[in-house]
Amino acid sequence: MKILVINCGSSSLKFQLIDSDTEEVLGKGLCERIGIDGSVINFTPAGRDKIVREVPMPDHNKAIELVIEALTDPDNGVVRELSEIGAVGHRIVHGGEAFTKSVVIDDKVLAAIEEVSDLAPLHNPANLIGVRACQKAMPGVPMVAVFDTAFHQTMPEEAYLYGLPYGYYEKFKVRRYGFHGTSHAFVSRRAAEIIGRPYEELKLIVCHLGNGASVSAVKNGKCIDTSMGLTPLEGLIMGTRSGDIDPAVVEYIGQKDGKDLAGVMNVLNKKSGVFGLSGDLSSDFRDLEAGYNKQDPGATRAIMTFAYHVVKYIGAYTAAMDGVDGICFTAGVGENSPLVRRLVAGRLSFLGITLDEEANDVHGKERTISTPDSRVRVMVIPTNEELAIARDTAALVG
Ligand code: ADP
Repeated sequence: MKILVINCGSSSLKFQLIDSDTEEVLGKGLCERIGIDGSVINFTPAGRDKIVREVPMPDHNKAIELVIEALTDPDNGVVRELSEIGAVGHRIVHGGEAFTKSVVIDDKVLAAIEEVSDLAPLHNPANLIGVRACQKAMPGVPMVAVFDTAFHQTMPEEAYLYGLPYGYYEKFKVRRYGFHGTSHAFVSRRAAEIIGRPYEELKLIVCHLGNGASVSAVKNGKCIDTSMGLTPLEGLIMGTRSGDIDPAVVEYIGQKDGKDLAGVMNVLNKKSGVFGLSGDLSSDFRDLEAGYNKQDPGATRAIMTFAYHVVKYIGAYTAAMDGVDGICFTAGVGENSPLVRRLVAGRLSFLGITLDEEANDVHGKERTISTPDSRVRVMVIPTNEELAIARDTAALVG
């Protein structure tokens, strides 16, 4: 079946058409600046050049129309007619406690997603707009919602509760949810295949290190803890997000720097992380690595601090699972930065880990990077959230 995978943001829309039988990507693209002047759609049919078109996109309905036009274009399209597309899989950021797995979308599901939108006000409303635009353009085509939070819903209470008055959980559902779940699920399952033992018997740690970054502990096929929380701000130091801090910092910065709550939150989300630590050098690890290699103090400080926090989470999750069989690196930095992997794995000798330096020198390819005698297997496993969404969609509507 041909499955359209949609990842809809407030002003952008990423799409891929995947053949779920062969798992081949038939075409993919991106609409940018939806609702803003200078909207652009780019589309790359498999094996051919990228086509870029500047077309006004006042709203997401227009964007979806253009996506369909691109996919069915007689010259550069990848399907002859729209009816060849059997289903649509939508990435939905927050499923709250209502969704523990992917579901076929109906009116009840849409209402439930809307209900938890307060928990992800920047993401869920945009995701819903994408769903409704697709429903309008492709009436009758089954659609599936795949949630970033669903994989983490197996966490026990002791892992998802904060040390706050319990009423905040009961009344407002303040708790750890975790994100990047589709990636953590995909990568941990693949790790079990590589290790060659049942997923249900393994203790795995997945380090999803991208611009947003999170770690998860997957024990016996279930997520038992993860570093992101109520929102994606908690946990590891990220591109521009602070990750874990003393909550009292919020009040203190507000007073010292004359900022209101929104101003401080803006600093924590947009000006912090490796960007802030490096002295505003860059949030991109390619730039930071270049700086590190030239002994730039800001870049070095940012990378060392980032890596240290990853090490701390690995230590904590090893304790939480009472051991670990495999550690996986994935996403932009995890897949492409031998330096970060070396700085992390180099501090894990207490787990009996030895890094195979030569194997570690790999970019974007699946590979074991620990030596054969290493007590814990360390792996680079490229993530593929779109394929995971297509698989879930095919499983539910196929
Ligand atoms: P997100 O999906 O959260 O935007 P990605 O998983 O795409 O993030 O990761 C993006 C990040 O990956 C970039 O900000 C960059 O820092 C890092 N990255 C990409 N390629 C490389 C590379 N060759 N070396 C080091 N870091 C890289």
